[in-house]
Amino acid sequence: TTGKPNISREKSAELYAKAKTYFPGGVNSPVRAFKSVYGTPLFIEKGDGSHIWDADGNEFIDFCCSWGPLILGHNNAKVRERVIEVMQNGMSFGAPTALENELAELILKNNKFVEKLRFVSSGTEAVMSAIRLARGYTKRDKILKFEGCYHGHTDALLVKAGSGLVTFGETSSAGVPKAFADETIVVSLNDTEALKKAFEEFKDQIAAVIIEPIPANNGLLLQSKEYLQFLREICTQNGTLLIFDEVISGFRIGFEGAAGLYQIKPDILTYGKIIGGGLPVGCYGSSDEIMGSVSPDGPVYQGGTLSGNPVAMAAGIAQLTEVLRMGFYRDLANKTEEFTASIQRFASARSYKFKVFTIGSMFWFAFTDKETITKAEEIDPASMDKFKVMHHELINRGVYLGPSGYEVGFISSAHTKVDLERAKRAIFDSLDLVFNT
Ligand code: PMP
Repeated sequence: TTGKPNISREKSAELYAKAKTYFPGGVNSPVRAFKSVYGTPLFIEKGDGSHIWDADGNEFIDFCCSWGPLILGHNNAKVRERVIEVMQNGMSFGAPTALENELAELILKNNKFVEKLRFVSSGTEAVMSAIRLARGYTKRDKILKFEGCYHGHTDALLVKAGSGLVTFGETSSAGVPKAFADETIVVSLNDTEALKKAFEEFKDQIAAVIIEPIPANNGLLLQSKEYLQFLREICTQNGTLLIFDEVISGFRIGFEGAAGLYQIKPDILTYGKIIGGGLPVGCYGSSDEIMGSVSPDGPVYQGGTLSGNPVAMAAGIAQLTEVLRMGFYRDLANKTEEFTASIQRFASARSYKFKVFTIGSMFWFAFTDKETITKAEEIDPASMDKFKVMHHELINRGVYLGPSGYEVGFISSAHTKVDLERAKRAIFDSLDLVFNT
């Protein structure tokens, strides 16, 4: 229907057909199946810098960046070389290695919000462990989460709001016992009244409040510093631990993540994605005192065969060393700001109902005329039809966004001026098509 001819997806389609016989939906993580956009999922063969190539040889400027971990872009030479060097000595021992110390030191020396860490293998695992720690430490059972925040697929958090201001959660996945969801309270973001009410209703029962301080899994629902500050205070007043889930925002928005940006100290922090340089690493951290509850020092059990895996540690060390270079985050944010502002100018000049929300090196394309969106329920589901068209047009123009309109885009240090100019032109053309056909 539009502009450019569709790119060839023959090989991807073939691989997808095979994959469907092996995996549910043909994938090992649901969003990859392209269910909410047009076309066959692209099977990726190679990545280099800001570019990826699919099985049919199509080349894309990539703004998904493996959903966030690749802040240096694909196949970064420093990360690759460190990984290869470490691999020469074997890949896993299930015993302590100096590399775990090295990554921990790098983090603890440059992040004042954590004193002690535990490495795990995914963001989900980090969050699951943080919740258990909060419950073990406070000897309370309930947790409070926010509608529109995603914290991985741990049972307690696959819960969405029911109806009403403060609700017991309803499970958002089959297989989560109702009894688990009953321990999870769900409230809207950016709603101080709902929080107060929840703390009144469940006085002395809430072990932890968990939030993505920069909610980036349901659009980019930027919260105010005042709101996050309020959250900090109400938790302190109630003996409830505040958990910042910084699996996305950690090392992305600055080395100290959102905690550093807002200068708010949560009780427990969770990390993932960037911390592993593209290999599977998650992490949770807290004060010396709270971490003292984790086994073998304390009664909260948590372990892992591949936790602190040397190859994954090596990738993390190499990547975090790079982001610590002077000016790294400033340059990345400036580049992103220039990119997103020019897209916004283009859309506004044409009166398109389109808004680019952005912070640091993250952005979200929203088909809306609202100036701010701070709650999940403020997103019009019908607007996703427009994203669907845009996504397709961008694929045909060599620009790869994550295949869902609820996902944010990421810019890496490997994205060049030329890449961003090219991407902008593709975005302009796609917007014209979305709004004029
Ligand atoms: N927390 C947040 C904020 C996330 O964005 C994600 C994944 N996108 C997770 C937890 C889960 O991490 P993982 O996919 O590594 O299990």
